[in-house]
Formats: sequence, structure tokens, C-alpha cells
Amino acid sequence: MRIIIIGAGIGGTSAGTALTRLGHQVEIYEQVTENRPVGAALSLWPNGVKALNHLGLGEVTARLGGRMDNMSYRDGRTGDTMCRFSLAPVTEEMGQRPYPVSRAELQAALMEAFGLDRIRFGMRLEGVEQHGDTVTATFANGETATGDMLIGADGARSRIRSYVVGAELERRYAGYVNYNGLVEIDPEVGPADQWTTYVADGQRVSVMPVAGDRFYFFFDVVEPAGLPYDRADARAVLSKHFSGWAPGVQRLIERIDPASTNRVEVFDIDPFHTWVRGRVALLGDSAHNTTPDIGQGACSALEDTIVLERVLATTTLGVEDSLRRYQAARTQRAGDLVMWARKRADVTHAKDPEITQAWYEELRREDGTGVIRGIVGNMVGNPLG
Ligand SMILES: Cc1cc2nc3c(=O)[nH]c(=O)nc-3n(C[C@H](O)[C@H](O)[C@H](O)COP(=O)(O)OP(=O)(O)OC[C@H]3O[C@@H](n4cnc5c(N)ncnc54)[C@H](O)[C@@H]3O)c2cc1C
Repeated sequence: MRIIIIGAGIGGTSAGTALTRLGHQVEIYEQVTENRPVGAALSLWPNGVKALNHLGLGEVTARLGGRMDNMSYRDGRTGDTMCRFSLAPVTEEMGQRPYPVSRAELQAALMEAFGLDRIRFGMRLEGVEQHGDTVTATFANGETATGDMLIGADGARSRIRSYVVGAELERRYAGYVNYNGLVEIDPEVGPADQWTTYVADGQRVSVMPVAGDRFYFFFDVVEPAGLPYDRADARAVLSKHFSGWAPGVQRLIERIDPASTNRVEVFDIDPFHTWVRGRVALLGDSAHNTTPDIGQGACSALEDTIVLERVLATTTLGVEDSLRRYQAARTQRAGDLVMWARKRADVTHAKDPEITQAWYEELRREDGTGVIRGIVGNMVGNPLG
């Protein structure tokens, strides 16, 4: 089969690799002219890592991944430890450790696995049409590509989504902004083998280790969408929002490189259950745009890939039937993750300050059991078990 994929993000490149391995002729079309991922890093939980292992990327993922053995919450104002515990039970329950990774490095590995020379950059999709047994994509430069199937892995602002769903779906602002980047590991901010999160006032500051003695850091700030941001001001902006916070947080603000500190406004989309129209299917953020609060967006895209690969490998009634099975297997699970992440976002960012206060008090009593139950719970029902 000739398969056209739109978008060379984690979704598109993982699907491209999986479907190539099934023997299909796959082409990826990407609008940007070079690989420049938004955001510095991401946490790959065991469901995502297992999908990468399945695609033959286990070794490279382990090489890129930081050793995140422990987890701790600290009081954002005083720096006092609220709780600290081992993440070993997550690894034991899932059969795979989680890996925080640099996003650019993971993206590069995925592109290389698919074949960089097989990705057509600078190709912005403008339209999709289906005639008989074929689907044709039209690009902004006037070129077209025709195949037996098309995967819309074109991200949160997907153009293919409205074609598939038949309506424009609204993206909902989650009420906060995520400032993120990479910084050299500093024990004054947090131990090198630990995911450390400072919480107070409905905001949070977090560091987790990635390979190369670096921390992935992020600051969640409750502020309106649409504010101007000049990276040169990153330190001043963060100093203002985290004035009076603990020494570890001040130290982190001093150490960051403003020039590479991203500001990402966080949105999601209400779950929807139409991911497929004929021979066209959505995959990744185009199908399930989530807040990052449970670290499952990319992992969910990788789950999509596994299920898509599986239906195409195991069913024989044709493309449209396979895609309907993909949709049936994925929409509920992916939608659940979107809603769990939204709920987590609301608690973390003090949508109801009393609930957030109660959560801080819970964290002071936490021995790890509750948090680990939540993390593992997010992965129950993933296609790799
Ligand atoms: C702040 C933040 C932190 C996050 N942290 C985590 C985390 O810790 N763990 C986790 O699992 N997930 C995390 N996520 C979510 C994760 O980043 C996304 O779920 C994931 O990147 C989605 O991959 P994708 O391939 O579906 O979309 P994208 O990565 O957005 O890729 C879509 C691609 O399609 C291209 N494209 C778009 N339109 C067109 C067009 N018309 N024509 C051609 N190409 C087009 C784009 O240029 C882009 O390259 C986080 C997200 C954010 C915002």
C-alpha cells in the first residue's frame, strides 16, 4: 500500500516507521523546512517507552533518557520536602522504566529511524480529497500526492481534523503557561536522579534528569494567553512570578539560559470520537490534544501507532475497515487521558484553591503509594500491557 503521512512529529515518524516495517510504501510530508520541535524535553512513561522498544528504538531511547529513580514534592515557598519516594514500583509494575528525554534528540532519532531522506520538508498540506479507492493530498506549493491511505499526524492545530470531523473544534485554554528548557544538573535545585517539583500558590516548578547531565526544567505560571514574550526577559518574568519562592527555585532561575527558554500556552480539546473518514485517519495531537499534566500526549501518540500497526497487520477486510477498528480501539482511552490530564491541571493550577490546598496537605502525608497508583493508573489499558 502507498501511505501518505502528514506531519513529521513523534506521531508521524513513529507511525511511518511502524508501517514501513509492515512492508508499506510510506511518505511523510512536513510543513517546516527544518526539524525545530516546540518544547525542550518530555517524559516518556513506560507505555511510550515500550512502544519505542517495539519499533526497535529501545537502545537509543535508553541512551537519551535520564535516570529518574526518585520523585519528590517540595514546598515552593520554603523548599521543605513534602514527600520523597522511589519510582521503582512504576518500573516493576510496568516492566519498563520511564525516561525523560530531550525532545530534539528523540525527534532526531525518530526521523533517522524512518529515514531523513524520505521526509519531504517544506510541504504544507492544504487539502485532502478521496475518490474511489484513493486519497489525494494537495500542498501549498501546488504539488499533490496520491495514496491508498492518509494519516493526519499534523498536530494540535491540525488542518486534517476538520476534514475528518466535519467541523472546526475549539481549542480550550487551560489557564496557564509552561516555561521550559534544559539546564545543567544542579544539586541545589534537586538531586540528579530525581524528579523534583516545587509547588505553592497554584504554580509549580519542576526538574527531571535527561541524558548528558542536564535537567529538563519547567515553570507553570497562571497567566492569560496571548501575552507578549521576549526570551531575553525570561529571567525577569520568572523572577517576578516566583518572587519569595525557595532558594532552589531562585537558583534555577539564575542558571537557565534565557535564549533557549520556551513559553508555551497550554490548550486542550474536548475528546471527540470521529478520528476516521474513509481512508483518512487522525493520529497523535490531531486526534487528542491534551494538557501535559500527566505527561501522556506523546505516549498516547505512540499508543496510536501501535494500534494502527496492529489493525493493519491483522485484519483483511480493507483499509476502511482497519481504520474503523483503529478508531474503535483508541478514542475512549485517548479521551480518558485528555480528561485525566485536564483534571490534574485544574488541581495543580488552583482552579479551586481549596482543592489545591487539600492536595498540598495530602502531599505532606504521601508515602508514594497514592502518586504511584495515579501514574500507573494512567497506563492501564495501554496496548502493550
Ligand atoms: C509543554 C508541553 C509539555 C509536554 N510534555 C509531555 C510529556 O512529558 N510527555 C508526553 O508524552 N507528552 C508531552 N507533551 C505532549 C507532546 O508534546 C505531544 O503530544 C506530541 O508532541 C504530539 O506529537 P504529534 O506528532 O501528534 O504532533 P506534533 O509534534 O505537533 O507534530 C505535528 C507535525 O505536523 C506538522 N504539520 C502541521 N500542520 C501541517 C500541514 N498543514 N502540512 C504539513 N505538516 C504539518 C508540524 O509542523 C509538526 O511537525 C507535552 C506538550 C507540551 C505542550
